[in-house]
This record gives sequence, structure tokens and C-alpha cells, in this order.
Amino acid sequence: MRSHNTSEILFKRASRVIPGGTYGHIAPASGLPRHFAHFCSTGHGAFFHDVDGNEWIDFMCAYGAVLHGYQNPRIEAAVEKQRKLGSIFNHPNEVVVELAEKLTQVVDFASWSVFAKNGSDLTTWAIRVAREQTKRPLVVKALGAYHGVDAWCDPGLGGRIDSDRSDVVEFEWNNLNQLEDIFKQKKNDIAAVILTPYHHAAFAPSEMPTEDFWSQVRGLCTENGSLLILDDVRAGWRLHAGGSHRFFNFTPDISVFSKALGNGYAISACVGIEAVKSAASEVFLTGSCWNDAVAMQAALSSLTMCVEGNVPQSVMTKGQFFSERLEQLAKGFNYSLKMTGPPSMPYPWFEGDENLFLIQKFCQLASKQGLYFHPHHNWFISDAHDQESLKKSLELAGRAFEELDS
Ligand code: PMP
Repeated sequence: MRSHNTSEILFKRASRVIPGGTYGHIAPASGLPRHFAHFCSTGHGAFFHDVDGNEWIDFMCAYGAVLHGYQNPRIEAAVEKQRKLGSIFNHPNEVVVELAEKLTQVVDFASWSVFAKNGSDLTTWAIRVAREQTKRPLVVKALGAYHGVDAWCDPGLGGRIDSDRSDVVEFEWNNLNQLEDIFKQKKNDIAAVILTPYHHAAFAPSEMPTEDFWSQVRGLCTENGSLLILDDVRAGWRLHAGGSHRFFNFTPDISVFSKALGNGYAISACVGIEAVKSAASEVFLTGSCWNDAVAMQAALSSLTMCVEGNVPQSVMTKGQFFSERLEQLAKGFNYSLKMTGPPSMPYPWFEGDENLFLIQKFCQLASKQGLYFHPHHNWFISDAHDQESLKKSLELAGRAFEELDS
């Protein structure tokens, strides 16, 4: 029996001094309270340990931030070297130039890049760049899409006033008629359309774009002089080594990355076309520790490895292997499980499980086996998942299905 005593005690202590104890997407209610630990202690490769010393085979990869596995030796060596030299100074370290050069080489349409710490920092900044460029107010986004913690897009209601959303218009993912209507009605007011490469909402199966989705969206933006912003924060470097637009064969004007970029070191990047470089230089951008040379070295190594080894293809193949077998396993127990979305970041969905009872139960039983399967969020495959850990996970998942069936 896996104990969670230390974790529970720590959570009680946290609740006294931290609103909610743990908050946001790692708040207990968003996952599996009493089954997932509240706190972790260490991680290696595809595994992590919680504060009670339980080992987990991980399928969340720090919610996507870890692409090459926890504590990847090559990245840690680059980080260690920079740490000895220092991290933050009065002026940026030269690594910022190297990283910007690298991103403009790797991302085909990019002619410039800026850096911050979180995805939200730069999705919000990108919107302001679009407003500066177009001198228009409106932003169009997909219903239920997450773009960060800022008031124009966060999923919570707390602290929000009506005007926070007055310049945001939403349409249903893949509903091109709705998007066309918005463009007809608001034609000269739309600064930008911001979208993720495919629709990866929480608590719902992932939806891929229809055949002509991206060409139509691109066309509407170009015809109407609006910018197309790709929020590649979550999917970036798990679909294509040149950015997720390459996977779906279209070209945005701006892309925002974070998560996998630093392999666990806090960094985000926004890249864009030459035509918006001047507007980008007009929108104020800074932060206390944003010129963090350590995180930038991590990103440079992570990105270099990503391109050299075509890691997105590798995690896609591993994810495909795992997802197909997990679906077959479920079928053997008469459950119709679909691993939706791209195999490198699949979202599990039991057909007919509208109240989410089955997925919750399955993930609870899997947690007893040491599998970190999230019931309500897409999972993430890292390049540290090898055949051994994936096969072991399938064997343990089989035990969870057996118990689900009993
Ligand atoms: N966009 C997407 C698609 C995301 O998944 C996230 C984070 N989950 C964000 C933006 C915000 O990034 P951050 O949490 O780093 O601010």
C-alpha cells in the first residue's frame, strides 16, 4: 500500500500559508485528490518520486514542461556550466542572442524572438503586439481554449470584471462558419486570431483540425489584415521540430512557446515575422528574472537536441506504440478507450463516459500501480520513455483494468 501521509501533512501546512494549499491546474480538485501526491521530491528520466518516497512512472512530464526526461544529463551539464558563471546580471548574457538566432533558424517564418518566463507572459504580450501592429482592439479565440492566467482568457471567474472580456470574441473549434460570421461582422476590428495547433481542452477529448481548417483560418486573417497567433505553449516540440504549424502545414505570423522549450527550466519565447518586428519593439516587455542565462542555456540545449534527434518524431512514435496498445488492452476488457489528439500528447476518453466516472476510476486504480495517468488533462510522452518503461506501464495498466472489471 502506497502511503501519502507526508504529502497530506505537507498539504495541511500549505493550506495554512498558501491560498488553496496548491492552486491552479495542480489544485487537488483538478486531478485525483487522495490518489495523487500533492508534492514531489525528485525525478529521473520517465520517473518521479513523491514526498512519501513513492515511485511513479510519469505520463504528465510536469504538464509537458519536460520533453527529454527529468534531469537529462546533456541539459543538466549545460545548466551546471552556466550556473557556475551566474544567472542574472544587469544586462543579458550572450546566450540570449544565441537562443534567438537558434529559434529563427529552427522556426521557418521567424525573423525575431523575445523571451520571458511563462506562456501567459507572451500570449498576452503577443496580443498587444497584434493591437500595436493593426491598431485594432479585438481578439478572436476558440471557446474553451486555454491561453494563460490573464483576465482576457483565464478559465476562472474570480476577480474578473466585464470589461476584461469586452474585446474577446469566441467561436467553436472547427466551426469555420462561425469564424467567417465573426469576420463579416467585425471585419475592421480584429487585431488577431489566437489558436492552439489543435484543440486540447481539459475535461474533454482532444479535437484535431478538420482538413481545411488551417488554410481557411490563415486565409481569413490574411484577407482581413488580422494577425494569426499560434499558441504553441503546450504542443510546441512534441509535434514537429520546426514548430507545430509545420505538422499542420500552415504559417502563422507569431508563435508562442514555453513548456518543453526549457526541459523544466522556466522560459518562454515568442517568435514572429519580419513585418511585425517594429510593432514588437514598441510593446514594453520585461520581468525581474527574465534574462535568466541558466534557463536559456537549458533551452538552447533542449532545442538543439530536439532538432538533432528529431525528438518530436521520436515521442510521436513512442506515443503511438503506447496509445495503440492501451486501447487494445481496454478492448480486451470490453471498454472502448480512445486516445484522442496526437499520440505524443494523448487525451484518454472512454466512449460514453460523459460523467467522467470511468476515467476517474481507471486512473485511481492505475495510481495504485504507480502510474501517473491524469483523468482530465492530456498526457505527455517524453523521450525518456523507453520500451521498458512503456511495456511496464502497459502491464501495470492491465492490472488496473482487471481491478476495474472485478
Ligand atoms: N497556452 C497553452 C496552450 C497552455 O497549455 C498554457 C499552460 N498550460 C499556457 C498558454 C500558459 O502557459 P503558462 O502556464 O506557462 O503561463
